[in-house]
Amino acid sequence: MTATVIDGKAFAARVRGLVGEGVAKLKEEQGITPGLAVVLVGEDPASQVYVRSKGKMTVEVGMASFEHKLDVDTSEADLLAVIAQLNNDPAVHGILVQLPLPDHLDSDLVINSIDPAKDVDGFHISNVGLLGTGQKSMVPCTPLGSLMMLRDHHGSLSGMNAVVIGRSNIVGKPMAQLLLGDSCTVTIAHSRTKDLPDVVRQADIVVAAVGRAQMVTGDWIKPGATVIDVGINRIEKPEGGTRLVGDCDYDSCAAVAGAITPVPGGVGPMTIACLLANTLTACCRANGLAEPEGLTA
Ligand code: NAP
Repeated sequence: MTATVIDGKAFAARVRGLVGEGVAKLKEEQGITPGLAVVLVGEDPASQVYVRSKGKMTVEVGMASFEHKLDVDTSEADLLAVIAQLNNDPAVHGILVQLPLPDHLDSDLVINSIDPAKDVDGFHISNVGLLGTGQKSMVPCTPLGSLMMLRDHHGSLSGMNAVVIGRSNIVGKPMAQLLLGDSCTVTIAHSRTKDLPDVVRQADIVVAAVGRAQMVTGDWIKPGATVIDVGINRIEKPEGGTRLVGDCDYDSCAAVAGAITPVPGGVGPMTIACLLANTLTACCRANGLAEPEGLTA
């Protein structure tokens, strides 16, 4: 079998198109412009790239983009003051604090100081609790994007066996909650899981969020299963230079799977698209308006 390629780049463009339509409607009918504020502390090069592309895409869908770039040695009190100001700013509907933060800052404390209604990353403890109890929440962007692609490919996920490899708070755990919410039978695997290949072979849906280049190989995959590869890893090319690969060995997995997301061009583009979708959703909720359909869990 040769897997169907789930084109995350094209899907993300569709999602951004829907967000753009929603934003245009809000402006025209309500005179409201959704706003997303991104806070970056320090000068980590990868974070700077992410923040720049988030800002660009925010503007492209017609939203207001606010960037707060703070020195690497910003104190916790000063960072909390910036967040408090954004919490109180009616032009700001979504707040994202770019992670990782410098070591002297307590990420949990900082994230939990964001107004949960503006927490478009879905990392605030209130949103984690709401998601875990099946209530309306802000849903973390990477798992939300993965879920959208799975729903689009399969329609209903009810009764499917799903194995999520990785138990991080930003990907693995919320992904498992979302799959459970869609009535999958969910296994969460991690570094201590015994006989991981055997566990993965039971899965109709495999979500790999590990951070280990090409760890999952085709002989782990049940024929016809759907593989969502969240991993982003940079490896050396034999001819020199580097390239991006996922946590799955693409060629051997694609030879067995029914469908697979490539890296790059799979989950990655969906993450920013879902950040914009969450900002639109947050804006609608803040203004007591109907939420756009199909843009949240
Ligand atoms: P993380 O916090 O480092 O978590 C990795 C998880 O993988 C942990 O739960 C760990 O288990 C597990 N793990 C590590 N080695 C393993 C092994 N040999 N066998 C089984 N499980 C193992 O990483 P993360 O933030 O979730 O990110 C995971 C990957 O997704 C990374 O490559 C990251 O770059 C990528 N990512 C991509 C996007 C995107 O937009 N596409 C967004 C976020 C992350 P323990 O808990 O037991 O240590």
